[in-house]
Amino acid sequence: MTDLLIHDAIVVTVNQEHQILKNGSVRVTDGVVSSVEPTEPGDRDSDAERVIDASGKVVIPGLIDAHRHTDFTLVQGLFSELSGDELLKEAFALYHTAEPLLGDSFFEAAWRLACLRQLTHGVTTVNAMDFTPEIGASAIGASGLRGVIGPELADFLAPASAAEQLRAARRFIEAHHDTHDGRVTASIAPGGEAGCSRALWEGVAELRADYPDLRLHTHLYDSTEADTMAAGSGGDDPLDLLDRYGLLDERTLVTHLLHADRDAARRIAASGAHVLHCPTVYSYFRAGERTWFPLPALREFGANVVVGLDDPFWFDSWDLFQEAKHARLLANFEYGAQQWSSYDLLKMLTIDAARALGLDDRVGSIEPGKRADLVVVDVDTPRHRPYSNLPSVLMNTVTAGDVETVVVDGEVLVEDRSVRSMDVESVRADARRERERLRTHTGWETSLAGSTPPDESLLRRVAPRPLLRAVRQYGRGVVAQHRW
Ligand SMILES: [Zn+2]
Repeated sequence: MTDLLIHDAIVVTVNQEHQILKNGSVRVTDGVVSSVEPTEPGDRDSDAERVIDASGKVVIPGLIDAHRHTDFTLVQGLFSELSGDELLKEAFALYHTAEPLLGDSFFEAAWRLACLRQLTHGVTTVNAMDFTPEIGASAIGASGLRGVIGPELADFLAPASAAEQLRAARRFIEAHHDTHDGRVTASIAPGGEAGCSRALWEGVAELRADYPDLRLHTHLYDSTEADTMAAGSGGDDPLDLLDRYGLLDERTLVTHLLHADRDAARRIAASGAHVLHCPTVYSYFRAGERTWFPLPALREFGANVVVGLDDPFWFDSWDLFQEAKHARLLANFEYGAQQWSSYDLLKMLTIDAARALGLDDRVGSIEPGKRADLVVVDVDTPRHRPYSNLPSVLMNTVTAGDVETVVVDGEVLVEDRSVRSMDVESVRADARRERERLRTHTGWETSLAGSTPPDESLLRRVAPRPLLRAVRQYGRGVVAQHRW
């Protein structure tokens, strides 16, 4: 018995043959894709439990956000006008005040809002690294999403000791790995060479030996001091640090690499580790003589490079289609055109990301036997038609706003742009309430005109100029009363 049948769709399978069906049907039984075939007339009046007519629309594998932090989903707009260095200081200050001041309700609202946004943006799997992983596991599990969650381990950043953090990580793995019908899994997530002590790396090595099936997810080479920081933990450089602790292999995910060079790219590729690229966030740091992600070398040596959105507060985006586009444009700007084809980018958001997470036997493409994680994208509009080269349409023109229906594990979570698996109004109400608590508890001044850190902050900010003009024109009271 077919549970779900999507017919008359353009099916972009992203299978090994790169097959695209012009007029195809996808059948789903017990959460698994049971067939992908040309549409037969009988499909249109099938007695499947759920039938979706996708005439003129495109079905693609669900998108995979390969690097995400979720704790601070609710700070949208706070940091938007700050430079990269200013932002890091403010984010750091907030990390230290938010948890004791705001408590679990703040992070529960953040995770639920993140899940809602991910669903509506066509993201079906998220690879998260956060300080509130238990809340994340519950939120992701309840929303219907698929998630790999790593408790972020960083004893130089968080107040708990290395030993305490490692114990908590072990408890998290025991309690949450492979839960919610296998949709929620755990990773081991040391923050990176800059945030972790030698004792923490030693503990991470033990964790990895005890849980060899889990991914190791970490930041690497994100500052010019990367080698010095690695030396503090006993490595010649960040890759050598991972290698010494037995942490550099095909189960390893490394992100940032802003200051990695050609030799580092060669070593990463040789180890089989995967690279998580977050181009928009990193563009904040691309100023003056600073180096940039060594893409040509990574490609030359054959490293698997995939895409993530990182922290939401840098530029407040949840759109992986746009992120892939930014990846290409920034790569072209830095290294010349044609660094990636449109199809390369599509694979990076789907099957290549699934491979990075060790989930490619389950998701990442639309093939019989795989879990049914699918997205229906509406390209049957004047914004898109007429077209040729569908991958280029998906990567250049489509935005998350074109996502119509989202399926995870065969469950229709979003249908015709309506979220079915979450109570949207309660998510919004909780988010509004917690934003207000953030304001009253931390001293951030916020209005439609801009955001100003509290007095004791390292920074004082002025509002962005166009809105300042609006304040002058309409009066401060009119603009300021529209808080949040
Ligand atoms: Zn990150």
